[in-house]
Amino acid sequence: MDLGPECPNCHEPWLRPTNLAGRYRCVYCLHRFELRSVCPNCGEHSTIVRMSSTATTQCNACGDSMLLPI
Ligand SMILES: [Zn+2]
Ligand SMILES: [Zn+2]
Repeated sequence: MDLGPECPNCHEPWLRPTNLAGRYRCVYCLHRFELRSVCPNCGEHSTIVRMSSTATTQCNACGDSMLLPI
């Protein structure tokens, strides 16, 4: 079972990449998120593997979510 990143809204592992780079949508609650390249919390840059369902959505430095609701 290949579960994706956890949705920050409903906390279900149904976050999926859309056909827009860096954009994710939760197929469970249908909320949309943008994956930031810079951490909103600490400003650390993240190495993003775009269009991958296993891409990290958490900051390597502080562990905060790099996803912002859109
Ligand atoms: Zn969700
Ligand atoms: Zn951070």
